[in-house]
Amino acid sequence: AGTLHIVATPIGNLQDISPRALDVLRSVSLIAAEDTRHSARLLQHFGIQTPTTACHDHNERDKSERLVQRMLGGESMALISDAGTPLVSDPGYHLVRQARAAGVRVSPVPGACALIAALSAAGLPSDRFAFEGFLPAKAHGRRQRIEALAGESRTWMLYEAPHRLLECLEDMRDLLGDDRQVVLARELTKTFETIKGAPLSELVEWVRGDSDQQRGECVLLVEGAPQRDEDALDPEVERILDVLLEDLP
Ligand code: SAM
Repeated sequence: AGTLHIVATPIGNLQDISPRALDVLRSVSLIAAEDTRHSARLLQHFGIQTPTTACHDHNERDKSERLVQRMLGGESMALISDAGTPLVSDPGYHLVRQARAAGVRVSPVPGACALIAALSAAGLPSDRFAFEGFLPAKAHGRRQRIEALAGESRTWMLYEAPHRLLECLEDMRDLLGDDRQVVLARELTKTFETIKGAPLSELVEWVRGDSDQQRGECVLLVEGAPQRDEDALDPEVERILDVLLEDLP
């Protein structure tokens, strides 16, 4: 059988594509792309003439079956998304599942990923972190999710659409408090790259006051809630101990 290569593409700066990614994209018989017209620009830029086929959220399940059959027949393929690493808030999950279930080798060609790029430069604790993808688009769902994350002690990160950025930051300020540290990483690897960290109250005002900050692509990174002291006793246990101690001679 052939191999399915999962190939990361740049998130803004075309030079971030790796020589190996280019080799693979040139050598496979077919490139499955989230949006073939979007990817045509990238492929054209690098003079890659490999045929492409669309593989996106709406056709992925059906399409995967046919692609897997072809790989079982010996063809190798690459999967790319519009930008960054496929499957990270992008299509590809069903194709990878089906390929692996059928015994097709799936091999990553790592490269750009907005969340990892943001984490690497934000200066928040990065030894453990959680990625939340996109929050629900509607206010109610978004607020519920933020509330559920309020006690998360790891750094947590999410992708947000520019036209919802300000609302999202305002919800965070209301639910997490003025002082929680958040980093906005915008337009990474592009001309107007900005990485701004501040307490939420300040960050909301900064974004509100500069409409340029409400354009482009962004990642939000939220400092985790202060961790509970693991050695501290449960308050109820402490209360009972106090009562018992009083009775000791
Ligand atoms: N698969 C991609 C990856 O590996 O990062 C993410 C795809 S997701 C549909 C697109 C979101 O990623 C954008 O809405 C934004 O939140 C984030 N993103 C992509 N490129 C970015 C960049 N250059 N700077 C900041 N955020 C970016």
